[in-house]
Amino acid sequence: MRKSMLNRALFIFMSLATLAIGSVQAQQNKLLGVRIWPSPDMTRLVFDISSPVEHKVFSLSKPNRIVVDLKNVKKGFISKGIDYSKGYVKHIRAAAKNGGRNVRIVLDVSEKVKPHSYLLKPHGNYGHRLVVELEQKVKKRSVVRTAAQYTNQARDIVIAIDAGHGGEDPGAIGAKRIMEKDVVLAIATKLKRLVDKEPGMRGVLTREGDYFIPLRKRTAIARKHKADLFLSIHADSFKDERAKGASVYTLSSRGATSEQARLLAQKENESDLIGGVTIDDKDDQLASVLLDLSQDASIVMSSEVAIGVLKGLKRVGKLHKRKVEQAGFRVLKSPDMPSILIETAFISNPKEAYRLKSPKHQSKMAGAIMGGVKSYFKRNPPPGTKLAMVRKHKIARGETLSTIASSYQVSMASLRSANSLKGSMLRVGQVLEIPES
Ligand SMILES: [Zn+2]
Repeated sequence: MRKSMLNRALFIFMSLATLAIGSVQAQQNKLLGVRIWPSPDMTRLVFDISSPVEHKVFSLSKPNRIVVDLKNVKKGFISKGIDYSKGYVKHIRAAAKNGGRNVRIVLDVSEKVKPHSYLLKPHGNYGHRLVVELEQKVKKRSVVRTAAQYTNQARDIVIAIDAGHGGEDPGAIGAKRIMEKDVVLAIATKLKRLVDKEPGMRGVLTREGDYFIPLRKRTAIARKHKADLFLSIHADSFKDERAKGASVYTLSSRGATSEQARLLAQKENESDLIGGVTIDDKDDQLASVLLDLSQDASIVMSSEVAIGVLKGLKRVGKLHKRKVEQAGFRVLKSPDMPSILIETAFISNPKEAYRLKSPKHQSKMAGAIMGGVKSYFKRNPPPGTKLAMVRKHKIARGETLSTIASSYQVSMASLRSANSLKGSMLRVGQVLEIPES
């Protein structure tokens, strides 16, 4: 009798002990992995963790290091196979502290950087994450020519080209793990080259590599460069892999033109949740006030550009939607800059995914978009731009190519090429563009 009671007591004690150990183990956070995303102005580290973690981040000098102290975390991951060739982080090491209860991560960095950290809640394929951003202590001033510096000089038309997603946010993923973030960057880069080749035009990329940029920052970059147009380039996806073709969207301030457009905008707007933004990156109220004042004019211009781009895309492949649609895309919300979003094709359609990956097809896409953009600005050159100052000459009776060439002091060859003329035949009333001499 006494023995069995003792046994029972022992059993209860043992159970309690296991319970206690069990609960400690369940509570202890696990560090599951890390990804590093270097971009031109910051390096971002994303730690996967099993639950929100109490942490402290600070910097040390001589040599320059960043310390990330994590409380109640088990050191589980090995930082193997990390590429340290780009960005500020040159090495990562982790050590257990406080008898295995805490973890200290030390980042060896190439220069003095300012750390900034925040937690992200689970979203999509991601669980809890801790983001550590490293920025240069003294920001290099980027050289951006302002409008004032152009007062006496006709300026270039600036086209901001935004490759959707990037870094932590892969966008849609197609067959053979072809990723939206990669194919749209390739198309965007090719498009920039075409824009730069065009006299009187200049292209600006919002991102030039595989890193994430919050939606508001994309438009901020475009505005910093005083862009005349914002093009956001994407690839669509749908659960039915037969869905195919390109489509073009503009912003709607009054609800989407279709349920499909509404869902698409919702999906694209999730980019910030997947890629991760801090509170201070969120839309501020001022921006939304400005939006109401001048958005309408921008929307009209946007839809004109969009129609032209859609026409261009029709020439290189199938269209998903014959008309330009509207929905509440956050990346298109700029009060003073016409903005359109292009879904180049369906990456969920294996055939279109392979095509999107082909450099030849990417060039075709870029060319089609460029065609639409060019024809819009030829018809509507913004005041003060080189394109607005193109001289025109209406042919009068008795004028010849040679008399016109000599009166403007340009060569006959340049007159021919600017106007795609084969011979010397001119019609009375015909309008010629006069190239710069
Ligand atoms: Zn997208």
